Amino acid sequence: FVVQYYETLTTSGVRLFLARHDALVVRLGGESGQWDVQEVSDGNLNLVFLVHGPAGSVCVKQSLPHVRVDPNWQMPLDRTEFEAAWLRRVAQIEPERVPVFLLFDSDMFVLVMECLDNFVTLRQAVGNGGDAVEPSRVIAEFVARTAFFSSFLARKLEDVMPDLSFFAKNTTLTRITFDLVLSDPFRPHCRNHWLKELDRDVAELQNDEAVLLAVAYLQQRFLASPQALLHGDLHSGSIMVRGDDVRVIDGEFSLYGPIGFDCGLYLAHLVLAWAAAPSAPRRAHIVDAIDIFWAEFRKAFLALWQAEVPGGDLCSRATFSVYPSLLRLEQEQYLDSVFSDMVGFAAAEIIRRIIGYAQVTDFDWLQTTSEKAERQRDALVFAANLLRKAPQSPEEVSARLRI
Ligand code: ADP
Ligand code: MG
Ligand code: MG
Ligand code: MG
Repeated sequence: FVVQYYETLTTSGVRLFLARHDALVVRLGGESGQWDVQEVSDGNLNLVFLVHGPAGSVCVKQSLPHVRVDPNWQMPLDRTEFEAAWLRRVAQIEPERVPVFLLFDSDMFVLVMECLDNFVTLRQAVGNGGDAVEPSRVIAEFVARTAFFSSFLARKLEDVMPDLSFFAKNTTLTRITFDLVLSDPFRPHCRNHWLKELDRDVAELQNDEAVLLAVAYLQQRFLASPQALLHGDLHSGSIMVRGDDVRVIDGEFSLYGPIGFDCGLYLAHLVLAWAAAPSAPRRAHIVDAIDIFWAEFRKAFLALWQAEVPGGDLCSRATFSVYPSLLRLEQEQYLDSVFSDMVGFAAAEIIRRIIGYAQVTDFDWLQTTSEKAERQRDALVFAANLLRKAPQSPEEVSARLRI
């Protein structure tokens, strides 16, 4: 009888860990000494190793007892448990869009999954001039399907509530989102930092009553509108691409929340790529991707809801059985509210990636801080204006980006 305790993995620890699991040994092939183990951690939180053997490969992800990029910031280990649960749940809905789940070890907080060989993050692909349109189509459909099939529209409340209560325990990372995305950037806070060229923009933003009211409303939507199972961290570094194969990784922030949150995060990182883009045609390409993302999401979500038997408690077929035309109106209202949530959450995410704790690499290629600040100001002003005066249509969003 052996009790395994947590210890942080090293490359040799990864070898020993995998060697204890017969199915993984078979998948990798050969002896553990022959396996190539590379650490590829590049996120803020966790350790990630890619392991290649003579027969195959795996990806090993482990939570650390602290934020990876800040050892003084302590953090419970349980986040890989939620990522493992998200991966298994989403694989039932969209198996082609996630790495295959292989193993979760609850003592070591280790998740083992398919290794996505020769994939790069969507952020890298788009930053290097790659296509943004087709991946946006795929992600729109992914968000529509995972949201719809985990929601009360497709499922009875008796089936949703157990999932909802399980993911509600992901409080550590929900707290991080609430603080870093929806709170800190909108007030003076020691975790914020920005280029000094943006001092005036930040002061204006943090003292704008319309902005603060919009943010208070977003906070409420985020915590108190559990519409569907969200990814919760759907930025372009959580999406990996290889040709037309698109996968979603890193579901550790998963929770039940407003569907517009996932849409908004995706949109925010397209806007950041737009602001950092090296040329006008490149900016236009990214605006095309933004248009297509919402159009595809809306189309896919409505198609699922209009299908003959959605089967959930909120699909309103019973409520509107005498007035079936009302269902169409309700669907429009629902999607309008997802749209306005998307726009609001996108704004908060853009702002926090420029003035908050965890910033993005999109602007790193720019040589001088004044060039960087100029591009970041484009994104910051666009985002602040989304909160000050919410666009009423998707056309209005792209019109504001096309000028
Ligand atoms: P974190 O939670 O710390 O952000 P991620 O899950 O985003 O960690 O993974 C960090 C990096 O590891 C990714 O950017 C990617 O390069 C690599 N990675 C993660 N999962 C896989 C996988 N299944 N296959 C290949 N590479 C992966
Ligand atoms: Mg990540
Ligand atoms: Mg291989
Ligand atoms: Mg992560």
